[in-house]
Amino acid sequence: MKSFVYNGQPARVVFGSGTIARLPEEIERLGLKRVLVLATPPQEAKARRLAGSLGGMAAGVYARAVMHTPVSVTEDALQVVAELKADGLVAVGGGSTTGLAKAIALRTDLPQIVMPTTYAGSEMTPILGETKDGVKVTQSSPRVLPEVVIYDVDLTMTLPASLSGTSGMNAIAHAVEALYARESNPVINLMAAEAIGALVEALPVITEAPHDRDARSKALYGAWLCGICLGSVGMALHHKLCHTLGGSFDLPHAETHTVVLPHALAYNARAVPTAMETLRAVLKTNDPAQALYDLAGRIGARRALSEIGMPPDGIDIATDRALANPYWNPRALEREPIRALIARAYAGEPPRT
Ligand code: NAD
Repeated sequence: MKSFVYNGQPARVVFGSGTIARLPEEIERLGLKRVLVLATPPQEAKARRLAGSLGGMAAGVYARAVMHTPVSVTEDALQVVAELKADGLVAVGGGSTTGLAKAIALRTDLPQIVMPTTYAGSEMTPILGETKDGVKVTQSSPRVLPEVVIYDVDLTMTLPASLSGTSGMNAIAHAVEALYARESNPVINLMAAEAIGALVEALPVITEAPHDRDARSKALYGAWLCGICLGSVGMALHHKLCHTLGGSFDLPHAETHTVVLPHALAYNARAVPTAMETLRAVLKTNDPAQALYDLAGRIGARRALSEIGMPPDGIDIATDRALANPYWNPRALEREPIRALIARAYAGEPPRT
């Protein structure tokens, strides 16, 4: 066995259905008296109900979280934290809401309890991406790790089928890249394989029957493990490309991951034989990249960057930007194959391994 380093992130995880009822005792466990409940505008009603159920333990609700964690929103929220004298944060939402909690925690060290409602996985990572003046800067700090994560399947039941599918593909991408990460290790490999298996099984069921609780449960379990993968090892071409594409053309996060993943895997396939062996076993196929492309089709996701907002001249812009800041990838970054990858993803063609 090759030598490895395993870095476990501290986390207390409460998982199940109806676990939202455990929130008051988790707040007490942390010794908090006045938590601020965070949400996005569409989830404000859910956040207000939650705050109402907490009675005097809730200092208030801040429901202005948006994607890519703009620093201006964080600064606005910090004022509310100060005005309400909040001593802790409860984030109920997807990666956008978790991002806001992390950004506040980075500046205040307030304890966070995160209740994820999508499969993005941010709650398990020490990573925070913030946007200022249109530029997204990502950093990693143990200060942003939530103290407690409460996974309640019930909170995910309202996630629309289409968003569930792409959010799940976003999670799968974390596990796929973990399998061939520079810091890959046996523990993370186990979690990645388990996570991909769970999500690949659950997502098509959720597409057909969004209220299937077992499938929702399996997807959330898979998403948790994918989040651990993302938080434990470095990512490569796929995540860098999505970051570049999302930032350059303001593309939707989970959908971008869904389109790019089969192509990024096809690009790396020959350089990562062990990861491909695992993926062939988990996906029960000889062609994992094609299987992920097919899965995106089965869940009804859009498979072309042209369909989700990328302009035609974006292919060359994205190629230049993807190569501008070199980063580690199992296969060297070569201009023409990278351009071809982006062009295929733009057109929605199947991946070419
Ligand atoms: P999101 O949090 O923006 O949610 C997408 C939309 O779905 C929002 O309008 C939200 O209100 C709604 N929504 C969420 N859960 C719902 C539910 N259960 N029912 C109904 N509607 C619901 O999207 P996301 O994909 O979870 O997160 C994307 C953001 O997270 C990006 O900014 C991304 O960069 C970040 N992210 C960060 C990390 C990290 O480790 N730092 C990891 C993954 C994603």
